Amino acid sequence: MHEWALAEAILASATEVAEKEKLKEITEVTVRVGELQQIAPSILRFALSQLKTSLFEKTKFHILKAKTTLTCRVCGNSWKISMKNLDKTTAEAIHFVPEVAHTYIKCPNCGSPDFEIENGRGVWLEQVNGVK
Ligand SMILES: [Zn+2]
Repeated sequence: MHEWALAEAILASATEVAEKEKLKEITEVTVRVGELQQIAPSILRFALSQLKTSLFEKTKFHILKAKTTLTCRVCGNSWKISMKNLDKTTAEAIHFVPEVAHTYIKCPNCGSPDFEIENGRGVWLEQVNGVK
């Protein structure tokens, strides 16, 4: 369900960009999805193909994953984690309840479990290319 709302938002923002840059058609759209977002790229692609307007007739959609960045609240250290480097159970727990990350992950600099999750949960439009 989430994917459909997201597809709508992506198409709406890409359309805005196209209007601003006076593009007649959009050839490529790059979307960045945070690793902690519960999004199935295949469903997102399907939703995009169903909802797209004539502006997106020839558009290639690139859906890329973004690594999760953590920032320590104690020492200010920031580091990236990849879900691939965690064991499966941990990665799944974090995927469903990102707050759980605090139980498993500690700051590599000072050992504090008190950190902020910077961009693991966002979805953003990285690039829109088109023809004028
Ligand atoms: Zn720290």
